[in-house]
Amino acid sequence: MKKLSLGIFLICALTNLSAQPKMVIPFEPQIFNGVNRTSLVYEIHLKDSLNRNIEIEEFKVQSKNTLLLFDSEFISYDFRADTNRFIKNIWIDLDTLPAIITNILKCNIGGKEFVIKKEITVKVRDLLMIRPPFNEGSWFIGGGPSESSFHRVACQKIQSKFETALDGFILGYSNQRFAIDWLAINDKGQFYKNDGRTNEDFYGYGKDIVAVADGEVIWIKDEIPDYIPPNYHDSIYAAETALGNCILLDIGNDIVAFYAHLKPESLRVKLGDKVKAGDIIGKLGNSGPSTGPHLHFDLRKRIIEPFTSGLNRYYAQSVSYVFNSYELIGTGIDDNEDGELDKIEKNKKLVNQKLPESNEIIIISH
Ligand SMILES: [Zn+2]
Repeated sequence: MKKLSLGIFLICALTNLSAQPKMVIPFEPQIFNGVNRTSLVYEIHLKDSLNRNIEIEEFKVQSKNTLLLFDSEFISYDFRADTNRFIKNIWIDLDTLPAIITNILKCNIGGKEFVIKKEITVKVRDLLMIRPPFNEGSWFIGGGPSESSFHRVACQKIQSKFETALDGFILGYSNQRFAIDWLAINDKGQFYKNDGRTNEDFYGYGKDIVAVADGEVIWIKDEIPDYIPPNYHDSIYAAETALGNCILLDIGNDIVAFYAHLKPESLRVKLGDKVKAGDIIGKLGNSGPSTGPHLHFDLRKRIIEPFTSGLNRYYAQSVSYVFNSYELIGTGIDDNEDGELDKIEKNKKLVNQKLPESNEIIIISH
């Protein structure tokens, strides 16, 4: 009898060692609709339940026999999130959207090669259309939608959560995938008038912020002081205060508009208020771990818990959206962070139903 159990144990162990790692796409691919490109944006998570050391050899995305993406390794802004869990951020520019795409990963574990395939259906949905979060002004799109924006990877590692619905896979949330840091600029591409040592010196400080759609206020903070620039304080980072003063506006279908780093005591709304698109709700500030006066804005969809506490807002996935209209001025490069754009490439046009991408300069007049 003893021999038999040992035999069964050995068979189980051998079966386990040949088990392939699991590839999961935790949130359906989102379509980015920019002025210059249409892109498919999603993330792939790879996890080995046996915690073996995975060497990734090759990754590609195909639509039928057309190669859409090829990487010999997981490229620089991907990271090992924890023991043998990998996240790959995908951004594919496309002329036409394929109906089905296949993700193919080749990896090596202890000398054994695995090829893992994951097919996904691309669902074409109408993108959510909102109005911009301001009534007027010239704005630089900081950290905006792009392949490698710091917002894109901001919460994938720190806000992981065990998810039984995905067979125990640990989710990394991409709740700022399409976030924008809005920085006001003048017509010379400068962010402030003098030396940028006071909040009032910045063109954006105190500007009115408006509701991007009809909705209900479900979370607010209004008492965190503004910091005096230059002011990136790592030490003040805490999950509860990371957004500074903020407004969370529920705009329906479990989608929430996030406004962060608002000016203290500038909020025109309270918890439970219903607002209309275009209503002034607060003022641009510099509260929380902020690098200078700006508005952080994104739209996110709750996945598990409702936003009943300040922390639950992290358990969400950023959704794509478009603005009803704005005027594109061009693209600016901010190389040395000296308070002005070093180079502006002009490409003026009126734009309808698009989302600006990182480093674009736009004018809003509503
Ligand atoms: Zn931000």
